[in-house]
Amino acid sequence: QAKEAGKNGLRFFDPAMQAAVEERVALENDLRQGLRDNQFRLFCQPQVDAQGKLCGGEVLIRWQHPVRGLVMPNHFIPLAEQTDLIIPIGEWVLRRTCETLVEWERHPSLKQISLSVNISVNQIRADDFVERVLSIVNDCGTNPARLMLELTESLMAEDVEGIIFKMNALRENGVRFSVDDFGTGYSSLSYLKRFPLAELKIDQSFVKEIPENQNDAVITEIIIALARQLGLAVLAEGVETMDQFNFLLRNGCGYFQGYLFGKPCAIEFFSSNFANLMAADIRGVR
Ligand code: C2E
Ligand code: MG
Ligand code: MG
Ligand code: MG
Repeated sequence: QAKEAGKNGLRFFDPAMQAAVEERVALENDLRQGLRDNQFRLFCQPQVDAQGKLCGGEVLIRWQHPVRGLVMPNHFIPLAEQTDLIIPIGEWVLRRTCETLVEWERHPSLKQISLSVNISVNQIRADDFVERVLSIVNDCGTNPARLMLELTESLMAEDVEGIIFKMNALRENGVRFSVDDFGTGYSSLSYLKRFPLAELKIDQSFVKEIPENQNDAVITEIIIALARQLGLAVLAEGVETMDQFNFLLRNGCGYFQGYLFGKPCAIEFFSSNFANLMAADIRGVR
């Protein structure tokens, strides 16, 4: 049909576009099936402090699809957000995270660790967001002080009052908030003093070329200084080299995440591996 239209000099759609639409529909159906069949997995990436000691982890979703294989979040989270499938997917992530934190309470070392969870704008927009989060935390019996919710700056640009209200309600219950990919959004800096934030995460695009890239070096220094002046923790994402780590340390960055310290791995592996590592450390000190 597209070809016939082409003969007349008219093209109503091109095959590539049609293929993209079909793939989208297939992906959406697969996502629903994935939820039903429990195909999602939690991965976790370590976060360390200035001493290089493990202090937290970021929970990152993966999709173990029977045919597509292990699908990365960039390939399905945007569609999940457009279709509101992000609501059940996000709740699944939160529940599994809260359950993991409860399991970790039994380990003398793991129980000190916090977990950060990515929250989409559509999730926090839902009227019952606060109730949903608190009911998951309470159902699981999780210590809310161990839970950090990562929001992006874009979210801070809309319905500011409503979002501050929800964040305050959760903050009063012990849940903390972090700004993910800080520096890449379009929102004004003034929100920083209005939202009940605990942490800024410097986006990895700024970290990538430090210390060589002068612009990135300056931006990174200023974000660290800004966070510290505002009394917020500051974490650098995407730290891959010792040069990057040393530059960030020298400039007062407090927390770090990146391949230098560990790639994301299945959360079950994270639990067993890091419990052992930390137990070994404790034995070494004694
Ligand atoms: P993000 O929250 O900014 O997560 C950091 C991403 O950087 C992760 O990609 C991580 O694997 C990657 N990364 C970490 N260290 C390094 C490094 O040293 N070098 C490089 N090059 N990359 C590094 P991932 O797991 O593919 O996740 C991509 C994005 O998908 C996340 O970005 C987040 O926005 C979103 N996402 C992941 N899980 C969830 C989820 O459960 N819910 C929602 N709403 N979004 C999620
Ligand atoms: Mg994140
Ligand atoms: Mg990030
Ligand atoms: Mg990012």
